Amino acid sequence: MKLLSFVLFAALPLTTQAASKINVIGATEDLAAIAREIGGDNVTVDSIAKGYQDPHFVEPKPSFILKLQKADVLLTVGLQLEIGWLPPLITQSRNPKIQVAGPGYIDMSRFSQILEIPSGPVSRAQGDVHPMGNPHYWLDPDNGRRMAKGLADKFSSMQPENAAAFAQRYADFDKRLTAAEKGWEAKMAPYKGRKVITYHRSWPNFAERFGMDVVDYVEPKPGIPPTPQHTLDVENLMKRDGVKLILVEPYFDLKTPNKIAADVGGQVVVLMPSVGGNKEATSYFQLFDYDINLLVNAFSKFK
Ligand SMILES: [Zn+2]
Repeated sequence: MKLLSFVLFAALPLTTQAASKINVIGATEDLAAIAREIGGDNVTVDSIAKGYQDPHFVEPKPSFILKLQKADVLLTVGLQLEIGWLPPLITQSRNPKIQVAGPGYIDMSRFSQILEIPSGPVSRAQGDVHPMGNPHYWLDPDNGRRMAKGLADKFSSMQPENAAAFAQRYADFDKRLTAAEKGWEAKMAPYKGRKVITYHRSWPNFAERFGMDVVDYVEPKPGIPPTPQHTLDVENLMKRDGVKLILVEPYFDLKTPNKIAADVGGQVVVLMPSVGGNKEATSYFQLFDYDINLLVNAFSKFK
């Protein structure tokens, strides 16, 4: 009983302080990172999926429900990326603000340019985890910019008294991002058009932006593990076209990529698809710094 009173007493001042800030929860660390850039001191930001986890498959925990109970805003990637784990957590939070029709539920895909939108009917029964277009769109910095603008507008509508501060932070983010993009593009320019294999279809936005040509995937379909026949097809394609790099997200088994690399004389590169995937990529800017440095280093070893 004594302990309980202490906890309640200690928690009170914190709750009062936090009430003036918008409490933002990102379904992923990428979205949280952009919210931090734009929200600054006017928001508190936390996230659910960690950057080193496959965002399609996150194991739900009771602590996630606690986070959602206190949220004013929930940022989702959308396009069914989180369909396997987030909807029950939202329901169980019983927080009306962040239910799908609530004022604080923000699907960030609506601000972004989406690639690979299927033209025909697609069902998850076929195993495709990208039935509404590619959900890994945050890997083009221009989509980061669009999401930042969307958040600046949203935060301003929630806190009109701080609209100037949000606009200022967006302008500053835009300026820093524009400068960083020039550097990233210059580093990647010598390798424009280089062909690569990726494990999952995580990189179409990144590839389009930075001039990489993704010619096939270790997965036969998004979300479907490698098969011997498909692996053989990938190896034959790599040998035919002289493709050397296999880019793998940190949460996939390296067994098949390593076998392919050994068979074709290529190299596996573990590329980071999300902020927080490791200690070197803890901001939206550092994510691109990290990946582009890895890629440039790997590309430079092969013609
Ligand atoms: Zn995916």
